[in-house]
Amino acid sequence: MSSLAEVLEARTVEAAPELVETISRDRLRCYSCGHECPIPEGAAGVCKVRFNRGGKLQVPWGYVGGIQCDPIEKKPFFHSRPGALAFSFGMLGCDLHCSYCQNWVTSQALRDPQAVAPPVDTEPVLLVREAVNLGARVVVSTYNEPLITSEWAVEIFKHARAAGLMTGFVSNGNGTRRVLDFIRPHIDLYKVDLKSFDDRHYRSLGGRLEPILQTIRALREMDVWLEIVTLLIPGFNNSRDEIERLTSFIAGVSPDIPWHVTAFHKDYRMNDPDNTTPEMLMEAAAIAHANGLRYVYAGNIPGRVGDLENTRCHHCRAMLVERYGYFIQGYRLTADGGCPDCGTRIPGRWGSQFDGQIASTPFLPGRRLRVL
Ligand code: SF4
Repeated sequence: MSSLAEVLEARTVEAAPELVETISRDRLRCYSCGHECPIPEGAAGVCKVRFNRGGKLQVPWGYVGGIQCDPIEKKPFFHSRPGALAFSFGMLGCDLHCSYCQNWVTSQALRDPQAVAPPVDTEPVLLVREAVNLGARVVVSTYNEPLITSEWAVEIFKHARAAGLMTGFVSNGNGTRRVLDFIRPHIDLYKVDLKSFDDRHYRSLGGRLEPILQTIRALREMDVWLEIVTLLIPGFNNSRDEIERLTSFIAGVSPDIPWHVTAFHKDYRMNDPDNTTPEMLMEAAAIAHANGLRYVYAGNIPGRVGDLENTRCHHCRAMLVERYGYFIQGYRLTADGGCPDCGTRIPGRWGSQFDGQIASTPFLPGRRLRVL
């Protein structure tokens, strides 16, 4: 029986030329994420899914590690088509190794023998057809780190756009200018997981802070719709000083970027910290508001965070989108995405109307998939 590494190795194509450079006779550099790995012949990059074979960079292609239909609020995107169904797919592997990962079964598949997510062969046209049949409005690359599998996502996104769907990444943001330029013509929405504002914390997760900050600035410049999430982990990233610096940075890029501060629950290998309390989220949100952020949301503890699940007009404070968890309880935006009371334009990618909600909880599509 083939190992998972052998199964995945057979499911690769050559990297997009924009994302690779030859740096010596037997060494390539990959630009698909901020590690910019120099990869010798026969070796793989940090992510373990992109590798140098015979002087060519081989990259993942032709399978999914998971698909699921999620409310768009789960990604979370709160300023893009509230209530829409987001057809979500992922491959396997990640360029970081966060001990609290909530998608570790797919992200750590090649690092941790307990992470078993069998890949399933598929084609972009089949995925998009299924998304359309299910009534999805958005196709999202998520569950593993999408930057390291950008070529496959872009191929799916081309089909999705042709079918009238929006597209998005749910990402750790460890990008490069090259990979952002590569995906830009095909992507509408981008969620960056800003895990900390301390470079030492990032290094403990296998990354660096600066590439993530550069990605955030670049996405904003490129006019990709951006929302940022920080999972608040007691004792790791919830000091007042760190939240001050993190939210000041976001507000400095733009006060219109929605910031979601979400509650940690014990997961994967991180079992020491206590779970985040509603009070901790509300305190972090108050700091963010004081630093000028206009759209601050608290997540993962529905119904216990006061007004922090709702979207209000930043000018007159009128209620615009009322939520409980992923469920949309009320929608009052005008057809051009404005406040009906004062006319202020609300930043986002709104539809001309609220189209209802297909599901407020995730579900698996019914298609029969061939497990390898
Ligand atoms: S995607 Fe990132 S981790 Fe993987 S090979 Fe490329 S630069 Fe290295």
